[in-house]
Amino acid sequence: MFVVMSVTATETEILGVKSQILEEGMTPHEHIGAERRVIAVVGEVGPRRQQLQNRLSSLPGVESITPISRPFKLTSREFHPEDTVIRVMDAVVGDGSLAIMAGPCSVESREQLLDTADAVKAAGATILRGGAFKPRTSPYSFQGLGVEALRYLAEARERTGLPVITEVMEANQLDIVAEYSDILQIGARNMQNYSLLNSCGRTQRPVMLKRGFGATVEELLMAAEYIVSSGNPNVMLCERGIRTFETYTRNTMDVSAVPLLHHLTHLPVIVDPSHATGKRWLVTPLALAGVAVGADGVMVEVHPNPDAALSDAEQQLNFDQFRAMMAAVVPMHELVRGQPHDPALPAAPVIAGSGGLGRH
Ligand code: PEP
Ligand code: MN
Repeated sequence: MFVVMSVTATETEILGVKSQILEEGMTPHEHIGAERRVIAVVGEVGPRRQQLQNRLSSLPGVESITPISRPFKLTSREFHPEDTVIRVMDAVVGDGSLAIMAGPCSVESREQLLDTADAVKAAGATILRGGAFKPRTSPYSFQGLGVEALRYLAEARERTGLPVITEVMEANQLDIVAEYSDILQIGARNMQNYSLLNSCGRTQRPVMLKRGFGATVEELLMAAEYIVSSGNPNVMLCERGIRTFETYTRNTMDVSAVPLLHHLTHLPVIVDPSHATGKRWLVTPLALAGVAVGADGVMVEVHPNPDAALSDAEQQLNFDQFRAMMAAVVPMHELVRGQPHDPALPAAPVIAGSGGLGRH
């Protein structure tokens, strides 16, 4: 449930509500929206629901108490109707623009990364990706350059001005990854690593949470709830394909997850057609599909010489292929931007100079 404060509520009344929630053994999470100030009551309510509701509704400054019907609370649209917009350096995710995260699957050398960073920046990427610590299916495969790769990523950021996203695989890598990286990536294999989620929730860095290949949309949102409830509101979600009976593609990109997530949550949604398909010639068509259904961004793997890549060689684009993908997705984004994707949601405000927000 969440408490809707009256527009005339004073700071003392808001504090009063928060301390009552704490006294009940629950945690208050405040959200100051465009039209109202609300406080979510988070924790195990159990049979005390009615009693708690009565107590809170009788406090001064309280207008009403609204139940949250979803199991995910802070990440739900019910609690937080406005889109979350994440700003990292000059990049913005979730404001109706299209974020493009591009770079190699793995950072393999300084030269490989800097060449790729220059090329993707020139073609319009807004965020640089590159794996330093790699979650590989085989322990005998290239595991990433680790801290050396983080240093190259920081150098590439200095050179291009692009913020950097890289994966953190374990809580004990978090300090070093957060030191060098602007966005923390939690990989599909770690989507339900709850201690890692909580640890990322305690940092100030935005987080991109990738959907596990066997995870439902609700499980993805519950995983995001761990991060947000630990104190980090800057979470974006990534559809990177799920495992189905189909074997021609590495995974099956769940295109419907994009508008579905936009309906259920205020968090931005990114698509990753590289891992979703595993085949380079399918990357642009699936990137287009993701953008067409309202994705806030695309993550794509780009390598100077994909065939020689130390990981995911079959799905990485070369520079020309990346430029061609950009030439396709940018007009698609212009076309769908401002389209009402979800008639159940209120119309999004129109941002000056744009056609409005992309998805509702
Ligand atoms: C990646 O983006 O480098 C990666 C390993 O992706 P995923 O976690 O989606 O497999
Ligand atoms: Mn990869």
